[in-house]
Amino acid sequence: LYLFALAPRVGQVVEGVGQFQVASAAALRIADAERLEVERVEGAGEPGPPVAVAFREVSFAYGARPVHRAVSFAVPARGLTAFVGPSGAGKTTLLSLIERFYEPGSGCVLLDGEDVRHWPLARLRARIGYVEQDAPVLAGTLRDNLTLGTAGCPDADIARVLRLTRLDEVVARLPRGLDTAVGHRGSRLSGGERQRVAIARALLRRPGLLLLDEATSQLDAANEAALRATIAAAARDTTVLVVAHRLSTVTSADRIVVMEAGRVRAVGSHGELLARDGLYASLARTQLLTS
Ligand code: ATP
Repeated sequence: LYLFALAPRVGQVVEGVGQFQVASAAALRIADAERLEVERVEGAGEPGPPVAVAFREVSFAYGARPVHRAVSFAVPARGLTAFVGPSGAGKTTLLSLIERFYEPGSGCVLLDGEDVRHWPLARLRARIGYVEQDAPVLAGTLRDNLTLGTAGCPDADIARVLRLTRLDEVVARLPRGLDTAVGHRGSRLSGGERQRVAIARALLRRPGLLLLDEATSQLDAANEAALRATIAAAARDTTVLVVAHRLSTVTSADRIVVMEAGRVRAVGSHGELLARDGLYASLARTQLLTS
């Protein structure tokens, strides 16, 4: 979703989708660089303590287009929380508000009980690992891509995240291993491999808060299952928020937040939400063929 590539500076808002369409192609390259700046923030290496997240009556609009209407929820430090719901419900925008790419029109986003507006941006971003849809991959080597923001980290740490994301098998096949150039925008890697590079990069930062937006959407079933286990394991020490379309990726989440048209419709575990027979149950019926 390249809409996000236009993420303006804090406080700015892109007015109207028409303008976006005109601007998108030209903006993309610059925007990639900007987005990578977020990940270049140093300060990773030591495991960040897990971060508690809360939205309190958050309303947000892109210009005249309302997205969130009084969104409230709370997520404790540690654990896996999934955001599901129809396209356009506002799930990606919710993650942007946490990263402070935008600020709410009213209400507030709290991290560890403190309004994100009071967090210095560098500190905020050093604590967060963010894998967005179509996460950018640079033209450098695989190592450059993995260690963005964690330059000089020990090889053992790199080897660990390569195993966790099953990239070790990919690296073994590459002519120069980690020092293989991945091509313009990572073109020598498959879409699924690029996604795993982005996840590995985020894990290497050992963030206290890991935001994953459709981060495993292009993986085949075997890799997706492996990554699901990796993400679940990460959630033991880190707060993990995932946005997912495929419900199969979220059924074991500690809690699922169901969103529709900018509102929180329900929060619960997979079992609880199925039992409530609302929007989640109907999504599950079509996707998981549950009766
Ligand atoms: P999807 O599941 O399709 O990714 P989503 O639930 O993540 O959708 P968002 O991407 O947060 O939803 O978008 C919410 C609404 O805001 C949509 O109507 C979308 O078109 C609009 N929108 C998203 N980004 C922008 C932007 N930068 N400028 C203007 N409108 C935007």
